Amino acid sequence: MKILVFNCGSSSLKYQFIDMKDEKVIVRGLVDRIGMEDALFRYSKIETGKDTEVKKVQFIKDHEEAINLLIDALTKGDSSVIRNKSEITAVGHRIVHGGEKFSRAVLVDDKVKEDINECFELAPLHNPHNLKGVEICGKLLPGVPQIAVFDTAFHQTMPSEAYFYAIPYYFYEKYNIRRYGFHGSSYYYVSREAASMMKKKLKDLKIVACHLGNGASITAIKKGKSVDTSMGFTPLEGLVMGTRSGDIDPSIPLYLMDVDEISLGEIKSILNRQSGIYGLSGVGSDMRDVLKEAGKGDRRARLAVAVFVYRVKKYIGAYAAVMNGLDCLVFTAGIGENSPYIRDLCCRNMDYLGIEIDKKRNEKAVGTGNLISSEKSKVSVFTIPTNEELVIAREAKKILRKKTVFS
Ligand code: AMP
Repeated sequence: MKILVFNCGSSSLKYQFIDMKDEKVIVRGLVDRIGMEDALFRYSKIETGKDTEVKKVQFIKDHEEAINLLIDALTKGDSSVIRNKSEITAVGHRIVHGGEKFSRAVLVDDKVKEDINECFELAPLHNPHNLKGVEICGKLLPGVPQIAVFDTAFHQTMPSEAYFYAIPYYFYEKYNIRRYGFHGSSYYYVSREAASMMKKKLKDLKIVACHLGNGASITAIKKGKSVDTSMGFTPLEGLVMGTRSGDIDPSIPLYLMDVDEISLGEIKSILNRQSGIYGLSGVGSDMRDVLKEAGKGDRRARLAVAVFVYRVKKYIGAYAAVMNGLDCLVFTAGIGENSPYIRDLCCRNMDYLGIEIDKKRNEKAVGTGNLISSEKSKVSVFTIPTNEELVIAREAKKILRKKTVFS
């Protein structure tokens, strides 16, 4: 069983081709700047000992052309890994928003496509492109089952007190305004990995997982289920992110619109693209650059790092309170997996919660799955490289198995 996993964005397509026999990635890659003259097609064939990389810069008109290029690379010439496209067992798609309609992955049919379409308003930057990927695969790979895996699905277990906003109830009824949460596949993966690293059952664990990447969020996971998460109705709420503000007083945009006559469109851009680490530091949105400038003493870069870390700590404390305790803390995604410095700051002076980092273990853990807490620490702290693609492929496999059993 070989599964193609797609993450289709507005001008990009990330993909992996996974052999589910041993969960080995056969091919991974990315098509970027789709629609531009200088689009980039990257394709890595993963072989023991030698990886073959294809890198082409050329005009790629649209996603259909991108997927066609990929199918050609998979089936033809030196880059090929299968003889023809019938060897693709299924395609698993990352779909960002499943609203309240989807609490698990599903096999795509016309009704599912309609329901994803209905969630467009909830994720206008993501869902239309995700669905485009599904439509194109339907056309280019006829008869190949497609599975939709939703970022929001893992959080559908949150209790109502965690997902309701205290605004008129009517808005929930009319517009489905509530907390949804994102990065669900990542949390599903790291929480299960953490339990296995602790040699404990998920049902016995209270986990806080910090997905600290360009987009950042944090989730409280009790008995394997999401009970609260920092991203909300959209991925704008919660932690400080690369360019997103995270939590702010909701009257700030209203005030700016009033005193500065800033338009609604500008407000959206300010909060989504000009805020966060980028807006505070004035250096950029990449944490590595900001840390470098902070190291040289740049005041605003230091401020950005301090606000970022403070917000993470605040949420860890809040979620420990929500779960009445904490057994395990996980750091994942670009910053969480690769920055011992940020992890150390996030865990400093948290001994009241039983969190104590081992300096050496923390320094050594870069991009790998490791225990970084000390022997004395009551809470086990881990770095765990996330693997959303594998979760999508596993979900696809599970659904195909059921389909075969019941059909
Ligand atoms: P992601 O969205 O998960 O790909 O993560 C991207 C973020 O991870 C960017 O802000 C990068 O600067 C950050 N990042 C990657 N490597 C490091 C590192 N070694 N130290 C600090 N931040 C890093």
